[in-house]
Amino acid sequence: MKYEGIVLSEIDYKEASKIVNLYTDKGKIGVKALGSKKIKNGLLGFTTTGNTLSFVTTDSSLPTLLEYDILDSIVKKDLSLDEMKYLGIILYVINMIPIDSPHSKIYPFIKQIFSNIGIINIDKLLSIFLIKMLYPFGITPNLKSCIKCGNTSNLIFIDINLGGALCSNCINEFNNINIWNEYYYEKKKLDLYSDTDFKLLLNQLRNYYLNYLNIKIKL
Ligand SMILES: [Zn+2]
Repeated sequence: MKYEGIVLSEIDYKEASKIVNLYTDKGKIGVKALGSKKIKNGLLGFTTTGNTLSFVTTDSSLPTLLEYDILDSIVKKDLSLDEMKYLGIILYVINMIPIDSPHSKIYPFIKQIFSNIGIINIDKLLSIFLIKMLYPFGITPNLKSCIKCGNTSNLIFIDINLGGALCSNCINEFNNINIWNEYYYEKKKLDLYSDTDFKLLLNQLRNYYLNYLNIKIKL
């Protein structure tokens, strides 16, 4: 079988080998990388978390790696500590993607996220990732009308606990609703999304993931 995917994690397998878990356009798979603990076998690129790869495996339920190419190397990006930490969050969230999700649609987006790690501001990249991933998790925040009064204009606020927008009659505090709308609904190159107060947005997203998905994001 021929695949393209991103390395999520690896675990030891027998004495000299590893099983590598990858996210692909067909979902998550585990692949045996036989002899991968020995440097001379040249499998380090296949077992490095965060690498984007193309690869060929045997056709079995726990397939064995036959050959691979590195499409995007995480090591070459020379990431900062913050970028490493956020990479861990991104991998953690990808691990939680439900099995029956439309992986062929999600994978190209995730590949785009990974290709921009080390290029785009990591706070912005993580914010875009977390908002767009709400959709495959089955979460649609109500951004179209006020959840208190039904008003469809002058929406200014996202209430994390109530799960949607509030209008200017119902609250007199501004936060990131335009950004939520843009990030959730629009599709464009990642560097074209607007900037905002990312610390505030990431805090909202952390609360949102905890409240609605029971996923703990450690910022
Ligand atoms: Zn209202």
